[in-house]
Amino acid sequence: MCGLVGYIGDREATPILLNGLKRLEYRGYDSAGIAVLQNGNIDVLKRAGKVNDLETLSALHPFASTVGIGHTRWATHGEPNDQNAHPHVDHTGTIALIHNGIIENYSAIRRRLERDGIEFKTDTDTESLVQLISTFYDITGNLEQSVRLALKEVDGTYGIAVISSREPGKLIAARMGSPLVLGINDGEYFVASDASAIVHHTRQVIFLEDGNIATLTRDGYEVKTIGDEAVEHKIEQITFDIEQIEKGGYDHFMLKEIHEQPQTIMDSMRGRILKDKGTAKLGGLRDVVSALEGARRIIITACGTSWHAGLVGEYMLEQYARIPVEVEYASEFRYRSPVLTENDVVIAISQSGETADTLAAIREAKLRGATVLGICNVVGSSIARETHAGVYTHAGPEIGVASTKAFTSQLVVLSLLTLMLGRTRGFISLDEGRKFADELLSIPDKVREILEKADEIRELARQIHTANNALYLGRGYNFPTALEGALKLKEISYIHAEGYPAAEMKHGPIALIDENMPVVVIAPQDRIHEKVISNIQEVRARKGKVIAIVNRDDSTIEELAQFVIEVPTTVDFLSPLLTIIPLQLLAYSIAVFRDCNVDQPRNLAKSVTVE
Ligand code: GLU
Repeated sequence: MCGLVGYIGDREATPILLNGLKRLEYRGYDSAGIAVLQNGNIDVLKRAGKVNDLETLSALHPFASTVGIGHTRWATHGEPNDQNAHPHVDHTGTIALIHNGIIENYSAIRRRLERDGIEFKTDTDTESLVQLISTFYDITGNLEQSVRLALKEVDGTYGIAVISSREPGKLIAARMGSPLVLGINDGEYFVASDASAIVHHTRQVIFLEDGNIATLTRDGYEVKTIGDEAVEHKIEQITFDIEQIEKGGYDHFMLKEIHEQPQTIMDSMRGRILKDKGTAKLGGLRDVVSALEGARRIIITACGTSWHAGLVGEYMLEQYARIPVEVEYASEFRYRSPVLTENDVVIAISQSGETADTLAAIREAKLRGATVLGICNVVGSSIARETHAGVYTHAGPEIGVASTKAFTSQLVVLSLLTLMLGRTRGFISLDEGRKFADELLSIPDKVREILEKADEIRELARQIHTANNALYLGRGYNFPTALEGALKLKEISYIHAEGYPAAEMKHGPIALIDENMPVVVIAPQDRIHEKVISNIQEVRARKGKVIAIVNRDDSTIEELAQFVIEVPTTVDFLSPLLTIIPLQLLAYSIAVFRDCNVDQPRNLAKSVTVE
């Protein structure tokens, strides 16, 4: 999820690694570390905190080495502490490895190796991989081959770099689902998670593909597949500047994060869906399963976008797990003396895990004896530490202040929770569960399809970006989507926007509608589709400009709306995962047309740590 850099050549490696890591800081991280080969040994420096802290530490322990690897970690498995920081070294002290991504089957590998007597030193998924490589290394004595054999046993995503004290002139790198680029210079070679880490040394690069493994020596490099077949690769010249590289070629981080969603949605469900059993497994909730299954009531508490995810959660959990759910703004919940008992489960949702109001609500709920769970993105955050149990969303660091990928990952976690509870409580049958699991797994491709409409949506944005107000309407699962769509627009374009349950419009907001008012109606073909059509008619009768989010070939609405954006179909409770995507793109494009600071909108902070 975060950053890595590696070097082999004839220059001092440490400053190259530290500088590379600094260039990767923009991605957000919680710990940093380097490993170098020195006098036949692996030497490691790593710690939780900033690269500057690591640099201070390294000044006290100067290394003399011309090969090494460096990492900025954004924890997914195990708290962000010194021990869990990368690089990780195998039990023989021979191999050092850095890793971006998630090893899904790490616990099975770890259990097997522990049975064989290997002692693990960290809580990370990554350590399983370095220990596994080590067991093959024992037999083969060949680093590249051992990495290849180990990777064949691994499920999940990785960008890795590996060095060994027994083969000091070698650096191995491989990727699956996490980006990796090789840098080529005279007699020196680099590897990095993105080119910004190495571009001041060389602009000649090879972008590795999934399933590639590269061996770098001072004399050259070789790229193969993990299956040991040669691959065609192209040396490219990087022409763009650092800022463009950081944003992955997109104009803003927010746009990059919107486009990352097929991947982040997948990451949030990775290893958590049991397809055959038609259910989900959420490891972090193991100890509280019975409290959850027997809960008298679930109270979801959150702020902002996370509160909208909570609202979707309410609809899902009530419909499919048949548990009464309430959703409360954390800032209200904490001060209004709520009635809570030991049979209540409180679920706090927060991207950062540091939201002050949500944290205070958690403390209040704990005092009153409830079981308190967290859904957050940042491992080891205050909310993660203070709740009884929880689930990480694994969306990776989110830099744009207006949340996009964190929201969809929260929806995924709530869907998994619904699936799990619906199955164990007997309200979702095996067949239905399997269908839901399949649907969930198909969401990333459907999101990809919607993202292809970015140009179409930009054109719509061009037509309406001068509006002063906008209304977003939806019903059922898409009422929260309407709220979230309106919030995105407000946050980044400063247009006044309201989200409303479509049928409520006639009780007030309808007075606002005239020919200047864009009205976004979220109208997928669900069981209240007909009702939403009537609401669209009401808008049309007042000359409002209707922008409709519909399922493919919905000719009824096509006739009524001025602008139609089509999204693929899915089951009702997963629909917001699709319908929110065009609304994110719309808010983004409008903000760009209005020349707003998309990534850092005025008056807003990424992590709201004040009351
Ligand atoms: N899953 C690994 C960990 O938690 C790697 C995280 C990253 O990509 O930074 O340590």
